[in-house]
Amino acid sequence: MNIVLFGPPGAGKGTQADSISKNFNLFKISTGDLLRQEIKKETNLGKKIKITIDKGSLVSDDIITDLVFKILNEKKNIGGLIFDGYPRNLNQAKDLDTLIKKENKNISCVLSLFVDKNTIIKRILGRVACSKCGLIFNKYFNPPSETKHNCGSKFLTLRSDDTEKTVKSRIEIYENETLPIIDYYKDQKILYKIDASREINKIYEEIRGILTSLET
Ligand code: AMP
Repeated sequence: MNIVLFGPPGAGKGTQADSISKNFNLFKISTGDLLRQEIKKETNLGKKIKITIDKGSLVSDDIITDLVFKILNEKKNIGGLIFDGYPRNLNQAKDLDTLIKKENKNISCVLSLFVDKNTIIKRILGRVACSKCGLIFNKYFNPPSETKHNCGSKFLTLRSDDTEKTVKSRIEIYENETLPIIDYYKDQKILYKIDASREINKIYEEIRGILTSLET
């Protein structure tokens, strides 16, 4: 099973992708995480990527396709995949079709998380991530606690692109460039819409039901 997790920034894609990946044994490919790894390496490419991300713009399709191609190549025979934050425009959706066909795979379903703008902004501005284990929390909706997280609060950091100014351009780009992909997948009859304004567990339960029905 290969899944695309689709939705605006702050919809909770990363959180749901982690649960799905763990419970359905799917390998997660998050283009945002791949880009942040590249930034950490402090290469010339990483520096260029950081400028783009901190503006809230999309990184070029060539860079993204290259990163996804490399990871698919490295992880041949890995089994099922879950894509988080990719594709982000129609061009990338078509590139993904080509890449995945080369691996003799197909996309089983696209889970589209929808949520209103005010919630998105609150979620993004409250988001903290652990730089050690990668878990994501939210000051307002899912605060870190000792039972949920044992790396310690010193590892909890804000993302450099989670600012009020950047959020606006990220939402605008989502509406103009990413949202049109919905029709592409609707036509293929693999699109499932999920109300992502609910609690994390409720959203996951609906997703679990969909994925379990696809497995049988
Ligand atoms: P994310 O972690 O998915 O929220 O992505 C953080 C930022 O990385 C985005 O705002 C973009 O600047 C960049 N990014 C992530 N995935 C993509 C993609 N598929 N195409 C272009 N830019 C991306």
